[in-house]
Amino acid sequence: MRLPIRTRLTAVYSAIFCIGMIALEVVTYVGLNAAIETVVDRDLEARLAGVVDYVDNHIAKLSLARFQHDLAGHGTLRPEWLIIRDMQAGDIFESPALRETALSRRASPSPRFMSTQAGPVRVRVLLDRRAIRGHRYELILATDLSGTSEIIRYFRLLLILLTPVILAASAAAGYAISARALTPVSDLTRAAGKIGAPCLSQRLTVHQSGDEIEELALTLNRMLARIESSFLQIRQFTSDASHELRTPLAAIRATTEVALLNPSGSADSYRQALHRVLGEAERNTVLLDNMLRLARADSATVVPISNPVDLEKKLAQACERMANLATENRIQLRTSIPVQGRGDLRIGGDSDQLIRLCLILLDNAIKYTPGGGTVTVEVNRVGETVSLSVTDTGIGISDDDLARIFERFYRADAVRTSGSGSGLGLAIAKAIVESHRATIHVRSSLGSGSTFRVDFPALLSTAALSPRTPHAVIVQSL
Ligand code: ADP
Repeated sequence: MRLPIRTRLTAVYSAIFCIGMIALEVVTYVGLNAAIETVVDRDLEARLAGVVDYVDNHIAKLSLARFQHDLAGHGTLRPEWLIIRDMQAGDIFESPALRETALSRRASPSPRFMSTQAGPVRVRVLLDRRAIRGHRYELILATDLSGTSEIIRYFRLLLILLTPVILAASAAAGYAISARALTPVSDLTRAAGKIGAPCLSQRLTVHQSGDEIEELALTLNRMLARIESSFLQIRQFTSDASHELRTPLAAIRATTEVALLNPSGSADSYRQALHRVLGEAERNTVLLDNMLRLARADSATVVPISNPVDLEKKLAQACERMANLATENRIQLRTSIPVQGRGDLRIGGDSDQLIRLCLILLDNAIKYTPGGGTVTVEVNRVGETVSLSVTDTGIGISDDDLARIFERFYRADAVRTSGSGSGLGLAIAKAIVESHRATIHVRSSLGSGSTFRVDFPALLSTAALSPRTPHAVIVQSL
């Protein structure tokens, strides 16, 4: 089971805080002990200096009994925690509190300082051996640690009691902070969850906080805009496609119904009806092929550009296929390929798609040029660009139409009534151009004719590797 982010954040934060706090407590505890020990040891050293001084000044002058009596009454040397032993003659002074302890019979002088038990009392002990006035003495001084032990015990208790309380409080605060920080994310999630296909125009509320949440909301809104635009395009395409498909189907149905309603019709009239049905079925097949092509172009990525294709050859093949149509329409089809210094006319791309592009441009040029006109095709190379152009002396395209001819199913009013074409040719041409990282330019003037020019990056050009150009279509009216 995956825990919510706020719970995970709190757990991680609390774990880090807990480790940090315990480490700090251990360091503080050990440090406090060491500091107290240092202070106590320094005091013992000072007392030792006093005792040495006292022995040095009095041991030779006083009798042993007088020495013991005076020392027992000394205020600052704290004789209640003191042993002075002549290492040859034996004990000189021994306080009752230390008498019964193992300290009085220690063999080794090290360690110099140690902590031990003197009966019920914990003490810090300093053991020193030195010569004073020609005699070797052992001096043992101790300090009662009950006061400091009490402080340390109290400190430890405080830590033990406070640690869980502080940890619980910090975990609760951490949870509240992460919950607060994640509230805008939850709001966005809820709002985004309500946006569906019927209300794609809705946008998320953007609070101008200047932080990541604002950036997230803006990014999601931009994404929604893109999805909405694609969705609208698809809806438009579907409705245009059904409209286009319905017309030939209605014609097929009407022709068939009329033929069936006339049982005494001649074989000739049935043949005519079947011809009409066949024509409409072929029209539908072409339309469906074109739609399929566009759907594939939409889902395909870029065409592999490494296949070398000789554009001149492809254009010649397309011209050959269009020659009959041109003749039927009394159009002169001219080819203009500069022989001198034309350079390498190979480009990287897909051979079939390039022929299709040439056919679309040639078909349009022939279709929209009245009998007696001319269609000129040209291919040449300038620098790193191989250009293919198709120029006709046809009806031309108005400025308004020029801006829309590459849209799917768009046909100019002037030709709409002619019944030929479905308005998908240039949309397919544009998809082919884009997939070859090329650009298409149109120049046209009503009544005088049009020129469609496609600029391809020449083969081996590094420019060919650049991403798909967003402005593949450039239109210009004369
Ligand atoms: P269609 O199947 O109608 O030819 P296209 O997508 O190929 O569809 O062309 C879209 C529209 O662009 C055409 O309906 C026509 O109005 C215009 N058009 C395209 N090529 C030419 C041209 N060479 N001369 C005049 N108009 C053209």
